[in-house]
Amino acid sequence: MMTDTAPNKAQTPAPRGDLLDVAIVGGGLAGLYALHRLRGMGISARVFEAGNGVGGTWFWNRYPGARCDIESLEYSYSFSDDLQQEWKWPERYATQPQILAYINHVAERFDLMRDVQLETRILAAEFDRSSDSWTLRTNKDEVVSAQFCIMATGNLSTPRVPDFKGLENFKGKWYHSGMWPAAGVDFSGQRVGVIGTGSSGIQMIPMIAKQAEHLFVFQRTPNFCLPAQNGPMEAEREAAYKANYPVRRQEARTSGFGVSGYPTPTQSALEVPPEERRRNYEELWQRGGSIGFLSCYNDFLVDERANDTAAEFVREKIRGIVRDPAVAEALAPKDHPIGTKRLCLDTGYYEVYNRDNVSLIDVRNAPIEEITERGVRTADGEFELDAIAFATGFDAMTGALREIDLRVKGGEALADVWEAGPRTYLGLSVAGFPNMFMVTGPGSPSVKSQMILSIEQHVDWISNFIDYARNGQISRIEADIDAQDRWVAHVNEVADSTLYPVANSWYVGANIPGKPRVFMPYVAGVGVYRQKCDEVASKGYEGFKLTGRGG
Ligand code: NAP
Repeated sequence: MMTDTAPNKAQTPAPRGDLLDVAIVGGGLAGLYALHRLRGMGISARVFEAGNGVGGTWFWNRYPGARCDIESLEYSYSFSDDLQQEWKWPERYATQPQILAYINHVAERFDLMRDVQLETRILAAEFDRSSDSWTLRTNKDEVVSAQFCIMATGNLSTPRVPDFKGLENFKGKWYHSGMWPAAGVDFSGQRVGVIGTGSSGIQMIPMIAKQAEHLFVFQRTPNFCLPAQNGPMEAEREAAYKANYPVRRQEARTSGFGVSGYPTPTQSALEVPPEERRRNYEELWQRGGSIGFLSCYNDFLVDERANDTAAEFVREKIRGIVRDPAVAEALAPKDHPIGTKRLCLDTGYYEVYNRDNVSLIDVRNAPIEEITERGVRTADGEFELDAIAFATGFDAMTGALREIDLRVKGGEALADVWEAGPRTYLGLSVAGFPNMFMVTGPGSPSVKSQMILSIEQHVDWISNFIDYARNGQISRIEADIDAQDRWVAHVNEVADSTLYPVANSWYVGANIPGKPRVFMPYVAGVGVYRQKCDEVASKGYEGFKLTGRGG
């Protein structure tokens, strides 16, 4: 038997003529695993990656302090036991360079790079029903044909700088968290402005504050941040995990958020005496991480009163950490239930506001009016800056797909079909776009789960289908519009039974002016979702129309 760690060198199949079996768009964690999995099945596949290296999110987001907010013993591939046993994570929560080193190691270990084409952006893809194949066009004017297309394009891969008037006039340097220079940036002695206080902002702010002469944080909406309580990996913790990996991974696969160690809660926050509840929150705060809070009570994300018990606990913490009461109050979120926007995980975030060289600027009440030659002008006045770091987020979940001119020959582009918001079947497929699969697409747990677990689940499901198609002489798969409509209705129904849609988050596209407000992730939990996907497959791909060769 071939071990799961053996590079499958011998198995690289020759493409049929110029036709690949599968074109994989994106060389991040999803694209690389898809390549490994398919090649191991004797399928010809090739990855097309815009960057000059693999790693996706972890290739581009090199800002100071970038770090995963899920523990690395969980946030790692599970497909190879040798890999997960041998790899050593130096800290509980890995930094961006550590994760990128891991991804490059995986690419090397499984000999993936020979089927990865770097610096190649897919601009257009067109499906031809007469040949049941896709033709992709790259930024280098190359043309590639493939029977299937896997869009491993990421959920947070289209960085967005708001359309501020005057940015082109700014004489200093500016950066975006998602397009950070590989060589890093030295802010020593500079007056720096950070715009945005989401996960990226709250991670870079404490790091930049240590370097900059003065740091101005432009905050429109405060977010709830919980401490990571990061530290060096404890040997016993690592050993215990590794001894128990099969059980851990299986538990994660059937869980809510795709992380082991957090059983589905059965108790209401409102049933528990206040002192006990407070003790529980305190323990979770000391333990670190966000999944503990999200999974502590069964009504945490469905009942505003229950939710507010935790929100108030965190607001009190902020008031306890930040010495200036006005600044503390400005940092304490009151406009959304805790957990309905991505919970931020920080290291020294609130403490940074006790430093003399950090100022919090409210751009909710005095919005940014323009970027000037010298800095940022808000309704309150001008702030002179040498550099601006935009931590203003991404056109999430749909941005990367909408940027590609994806269509069936003679048909409408996906961007137009999704004009009123994304509609998918299982977050894997779109009616009217045959032989195209998305990895962690809208309508799947995706960003509301441990991403690598969801990536593996999707890639396995897609690969199993491709094997089924090969054995059954199936040349085309296409989601039924009715099945898609039912799935979209179900995704919405689940979301509407929670507090999630209340918040103006990127989960609903609220950060992009004009983006339709649609709640995009599926929030019934990864265990429930996996069951649904498996059921669909076991019923001969129910909800999909399959067409045989020559049919
Ligand atoms: P984000 O959560 O969308 O935050 C963007 C920030 O920019 C918000 O504070 C937003 O304010 C602000 N902003 C946007 N436009 C603005 C404007 N015109 N004027 C003033 N402020 C403006 O983006 P992100 O921090 O890059 O995070 C995105 C996601 O990436 C995270 O939620 C997470 O899923 C992922 N991520 C994960 C990690 C990790 O694993 N640790 C780290 C970074 C990112 P409003 O809230 O008012 O819109």
